[in-house]
Amino acid sequence: MLNNANEVKFAFIERTTPSYASEKFVRGRESGDAFDDMESFQRWFDNEVTTHGNFVLNKTHPTGKNPSAPYQVKTVHYFLCDHYRTERKVATNEAGPSTPQPAKRRRTVNKVSKRSACPAKLTAKELNNGTVEVVYEWVHLNHDPADWDEVAAEALDQGTKEWLKKQVDNEMNWTSISALLRLNDDEMDMLEGEIEERRRFPKMMAVNYRAVQNLVLSKINRVSKKHSVDKTSVGLWMDYLANEKGCTTLFNLHPEGGPILVSWFSPTLIIL
Ligand SMILES: [Zn+2]
Repeated sequence: MLNNANEVKFAFIERTTPSYASEKFVRGRESGDAFDDMESFQRWFDNEVTTHGNFVLNKTHPTGKNPSAPYQVKTVHYFLCDHYRTERKVATNEAGPSTPQPAKRRRTVNKVSKRSACPAKLTAKELNNGTVEVVYEWVHLNHDPADWDEVAAEALDQGTKEWLKKQVDNEMNWTSISALLRLNDDEMDMLEGEIEERRRFPKMMAVNYRAVQNLVLSKINRVSKKHSVDKTSVGLWMDYLANEKGCTTLFNLHPEGGPILVSWFSPTLIIL
């Protein structure tokens, strides 16, 4: 958890290219180096795998196999490179757009766009005896996770996001947040050194206007909507004005949908 602006300024993403002997890095019972437990697996993941790229837990699959057999797999955890899904399948009408067909019978083919997916992934098998076996396909294709632009464009990490959310909840906006994160000359030199010499990227590179705007919008939504259905939300606001603020309200719904007519008078309204 990042607690203040200074911690955010000096939190880094590290990227190194692994130098394993083979394209598949395996740890398990056969090679005699399975992880003792999920905790030690997680430690390895945090300290090593996260410096190779941005891997995301895709799914956790309980196998439901005999729980009393110590070497049976209990749960499989699948982690994928965040570029794994950049393969875009474009659904196209086989017969072409000029011959409309009934929606249900329309046949589609999947065309894979030129930008194809990265195959890097990691599978961790948790056995009944608690040990963890790993198959790690660490080679990235079609992108470079250590590339400066890529790291800068990565989604906010959880710690930075939480810090940012706290600022937005405290009525901070983009201007005041960027002022908090502004670097002086010494700090700038220091960060430059980290980037150039140690290949460590400041996490706050991902803090941009859009990230703050998204959080502000979701906050506005949270506080201004009393219900996910607009009509119900407006109704609840009118109840609030009438019952808690003593307003005189008018709330008219069109019987077949359409516009909502709303008006209210405050009891403290002074007519001059
Ligand atoms: Zn990748």
